[in-house]
Amino acid sequence: MSNIVNPLIEEYIRSIIGKNEGLLKEMEDYADEHHVPIIQPEVAKVLEVIAKLSGANHILEVGTAIGYSSIILSNATAENTKITTIERRKDMIEKAQQNIKKAGLTERIRILEGNAEEILPSLTDSFDFIFLDAAKGQYMEFLSACIHLLHPKGVLVSDNVLYKGMVASNQYVIRRKKTIVKRMRTYLDYIMHHPTLTSCLLPIGDGIAISYKK
Ligand code: SAM
Repeated sequence: MSNIVNPLIEEYIRSIIGKNEGLLKEMEDYADEHHVPIIQPEVAKVLEVIAKLSGANHILEVGTAIGYSSIILSNATAENTKITTIERRKDMIEKAQQNIKKAGLTERIRILEGNAEEILPSLTDSFDFIFLDAAKGQYMEFLSACIHLLHPKGVLVSDNVLYKGMVASNQYVIRRKKTIVKRMRTYLDYIMHHPTLTSCLLPIGDGIAISYKK
């Protein structure tokens, strides 16, 4: 449980969302056992709704981990929607590839291996939905490339923006996380006031920001 959502409300929302079965459940158990930080159920639902609303043809994800959110996004979108996802850890990529194969989605999800800060500026495709879920301290580094890669009317969703409540209140901040918190505050201030973005912050999961590109 986080500092962000009242635990009773979170419990209720999770009970009404219901539980996954099959591969997604297997992946959740794996993530739990191996401490892989995958998206939380209520964040997964927001992503599904936005992906459907945006009618996304091409989605970019920064931070694949074991492929959980990539699979959720694929399942929520049309057969011809492609997902490009970036991950720097080889062990994660291997696991993600296995999961994507099991899900029968190898034709739709492409993993790019390496550091997002190097890969993003080299991409030439454009995207109608970008999901940012990588190192929290680097969001500012990714932002200008993400805005550039996003179609007008596209949506950028940034995860973990309230980081256990630390970004919202100094009373939650632990000393060794001060730099990340400071960087995330700068990021949020930037996206909330950026001339081409209309952004909002939602206190669900670990906090998400949704930005619409004008
Ligand atoms: N989106 C995934 C999901 O919900 O299933 C979880 C992603 S996890 C929170 C973050 C992942 O981003 C980690 O696997 C980490 O190795 C990767 N990552 C962090 N910083 C990165 C960077 N600069 N370039 C590429 N990958 C990065």
